[in-house]
Amino acid sequence: FNFTYKPLRNVDGKVYAILHAAMDVTKQVQLQQQKDEFLGIASHELKTPVTSIKAYAQVLERMIRNDGDEKKASMVHKMDVQLNRLTGLIGDLLDVTKIQSGKMTFNPVNFDFDLAVAEIAEEMQHISARHHIHTDLQGHANVYADKERIGQVITNFLSNAIKYSADADQVDVKTYTTDNEIILSVKDFGIGISKELQHLVFDQFYRVGGQLQHTYPGLGLGLYISSEIIKSEGGRIWVESEEGQGATFYFALKR
Ligand code: ADP
Repeated sequence: FNFTYKPLRNVDGKVYAILHAAMDVTKQVQLQQQKDEFLGIASHELKTPVTSIKAYAQVLERMIRNDGDEKKASMVHKMDVQLNRLTGLIGDLLDVTKIQSGKMTFNPVNFDFDLAVAEIAEEMQHISARHHIHTDLQGHANVYADKERIGQVITNFLSNAIKYSADADQVDVKTYTTDNEIILSVKDFGIGISKELQHLVFDQFYRVGGQLQHTYPGLGLGLYISSEIIKSEGGRIWVESEEGQGATFYFALKR
């Protein structure tokens, strides 16, 4: 049982009664477990058909393109882009259930950090024609970590930088080393985050508030997953920003 006590006071501050509440915690925990389990099964079940539709869409696009019908091919390509979004959302839901049940696995390998960052920046450059992704990679070091998972964090930083700076046209990606760490920063010139809200962005489900919610789609899971990944790899993750002046997201890993 979870007990809470709340003193009730009269106008001069004297306690005249105590409110006492007891809640059955086992029931609460059970419900939470059922919810987590359902989310895990649901996202897994959604993943299978979406993966299959995606494979068909790609084959179809190639066939139509070979026939020379660019207009139809570009429509199928748009389907594929939306399917990528869907795959990403389902992947995030699956990751959250893995984190919550302690089942997120890490397969560390030794890899060239700058090279991995360069590859992802190039990939993202293809997706966003509006922004110029400028890279200054001076890390010059190898990292021993799960390359896929670290890549996921870099991709998340970059896609947020693009998403939250629709009126800007530049994103700066930097890597550098200190005595014992290798650091990545992704800087954008977009809407930024106020000082009061900065500590919330790595929380589960935290999202931009008010009107902006409809302008910027998302589930509010990317930075939560990113921070869990970086912490599991023994690193640090943080943000520096001024509202309206853009944001810089960082992570540091031991080297
Ligand atoms: P999502 O983008 O799906 O909302 P994230 O976990 O990636 O989820 O980000 C959480 C919140 O942090 C966002 O809703 C937004 O308020 C804020 N945020 C993240 N990246 C940026 C950025 N580059 N500039 C401004 N705000 C950001």
